[in-house]
Amino acid sequence: MAQLNYKAELDFDGCTGCNWCDIACPSGAITMTERKAYINDDRCIGCGYCVDRCPEDVMWMTKRVVPLELPIGAELDAETQAQAVALIEKAGVPLVSPLCPCSLSTPMQAAAAIVKGAQNLEDVSAMTGIRGGCKIYCVAPTLRLLKAAGRDVTPPKGFRWYDLTLNMSDLEGGEIDGEEGSWLAEDLDYFNLRKNESTPAERSTS
Ligand code: SF4
Ligand code: SF4
Repeated sequence: MAQLNYKAELDFDGCTGCNWCDIACPSGAITMTERKAYINDDRCIGCGYCVDRCPEDVMWMTKRVVPLELPIGAELDAETQAQAVALIEKAGVPLVSPLCPCSLSTPMQAAAAIVKGAQNLEDVSAMTGIRGGCKIYCVAPTLRLLKAAGRDVTPPKGFRWYDLTLNMSDLEGGEIDGEEGSWLAEDLDYFNLRKNESTPAERSTS
C-alpha cells in the first residue's frame, strides 16, 4: 500500500467526547481535547473503525481531494533497506509476504517504518497502513520488530495485544526432542531452508 483515497470526518457539534473512536483508531489519528474528537488527516489510514464505533453516529468516511501518500511505500533507499533487513533478521520475523494481508504491507516496509522512527504500533500503522483490516496477522510480527529495535512494547493500560508469541526462530536445535508424532524438527528444518534460500528483500517481494 502506498496511497490512500479515503479518510474519516465527523460532525463536531454532535460529538459527545465518549472517546470510543480514539480507542478504536489503529493509527493514533484521533486525539481528544475538551471532550471533542480531532482527526489528524495525515495519520488517518481510512479503515473506518471509528465510524463503526461512534455511538452518536456522527462520523463518516469521505474521499480525499488529494490522495495521501504513505511515508513508507514500495521504494526504499539502500541505507534504509539495509537497516530494515538487519532488523528483520534480528527480530526473527517469519519472512512470509505480505506481513499484513489487508494492506499488503511487507516485513520490509514495517521494519523500514521503525528504522525511520516509528515508536509503536500506531506509528507503524500510520506510516505503512497496517492494522487497517483484521488487525490479526500484522500485530505479532510488528511487535517483534519493535522489540528488536529496543522500543517499549508494553500494551496500553487495560489492553491486551496479540502477543510476542514464540516462533520457529526462538527455538534452538537442542529444544527439539523429536518425540514421536512431533514434526517440530522437520518444521524447523523447513523454516531454516526458507530463511536461507533468499534475502529478506527478495522474500518480501516474492
Ligand atoms: S485511521 Fe481508521 S479509525 Fe483512525 S481516524 Fe482514520 S478511519 Fe477512523
Ligand atoms: S465516538 Fe463519536 S461521539 Fe464519541 S468521541 Fe468519537 S466522534 Fe465523538
